[in-house]
Amino acid sequence: MANPTHRHTRTRRDKRRANWKGQMPTLTACPECKELKEPHRVCLSCGSYSGRKVLEIVEKE
Ligand SMILES: [Zn+2]
Repeated sequence: MANPTHRHTRTRRDKRRANWKGQMPTLTACPECKELKEPHRVCLSCGSYSGRKVLEIVEKE
């Protein structure tokens, strides 16, 4: 296994981690209900995917 030759400095480590967090998922409008959803995922508000209803949405009481 290849190993790193030198340990990186704290500065270098922290610089790497500085632009790592806080990425919002891409959201698109659902073609059925126009609610925002992630692409290639079943819409969680109307339960449809690619024009078909694939999930039964049950309201919590
Ligand atoms: Zn929808």
